[in-house]
Amino acid sequence: MSKRTALITGASRGIGKACAEVLSLAGYRLVLTARSIEKLQEVASEIAGNGGEVFPLELDLSTRDMIPDAISRAIKEFGRIDILVNNAGMTKDGLAVRMKPSDWQAVLDTNLSGAFYATQQVLPGMMRERWGRVVNISSVVGEMGNPGQANYVASKAGLIGLTKSLAQELGSRNITVNAVAPGFIETDMTHGLTPELKQKMIDQTPLRRIGTPQDVAAAVKFLVSEEAGFITGHVLDVNGGIYM
Ligand code: NAP
Repeated sequence: MSKRTALITGASRGIGKACAEVLSLAGYRLVLTARSIEKLQEVASEIAGNGGEVFPLELDLSTRDMIPDAISRAIKEFGRIDILVNNAGMTKDGLAVRMKPSDWQAVLDTNLSGAFYATQQVLPGMMRERWGRVVNISSVVGEMGNPGQANYVASKAGLIGLTKSLAQELGSRNITVNAVAPGFIETDMTHGLTPELKQKMIDQTPLRRIGTPQDVAAAVKFLVSEEAGFITGHVLDVNGGIYM
């Protein structure tokens, strides 16, 4: 059997980039997507330099019309997509009472609808192969809520519901669908938080540290593996124990 191919969205930095590095070292072929093709190309050439097989693909997930065409280019490149990691995500924080419709919509479009439409594109191939893995990157706040993030939290809670529904729909085709719910992870997304807020989060975390992108990538690597074949509809917390 040829190498399995994984498509990772939002792979130009942070958690998506770490997933790409870890899965490449584990022997998977990769399709990496993001809006900034230059950054993706940098990640792709690092991975190729370490012997990986990788295809960088520009894709704005908030633009639904772009998704089918981009993913069919990826399928043409490698023949099939066996694994989809719906990782791309963004925040546009603000109190609900004043939240602009455009900020609500942008976050829902990218984080939730983007993941759904990308999944739709890879499912027919996975169903034909009777093998597939979908991992949705949710968030601890999708489980517990967070003031000032109504749009983001709704998108991340939506991903958990999507995960469980798809797991039930696709189990008979041997396709597993799981979510990973990271806690506070050191990436561009959390870079702007004040030192005081970071310290507060660390103090509330039983493991007393901020998570790394590699902590999340390790969970993704497990869920997409052959060995995780009897796990579906699960939400795997990678949060240092801040929520259990
Ligand atoms: P990040 O460093 O900001 O990276 C986000 C990635 O998503 C980038 O590659 C970005 O690339 C891509 N992206 C953003 N909007 C996109 C769009 N419209 N279309 C396509 N790609 C898009 O964030 P991160 O911390 O690694 O987060 C990765 C995932 O983990 C997200 O879903 C996030 O919600 C989740 N998460 C993060 C944390 C945390 O503490 N960091 C905690 C829980 C969950 P371009 O800008 O080039 O498009």
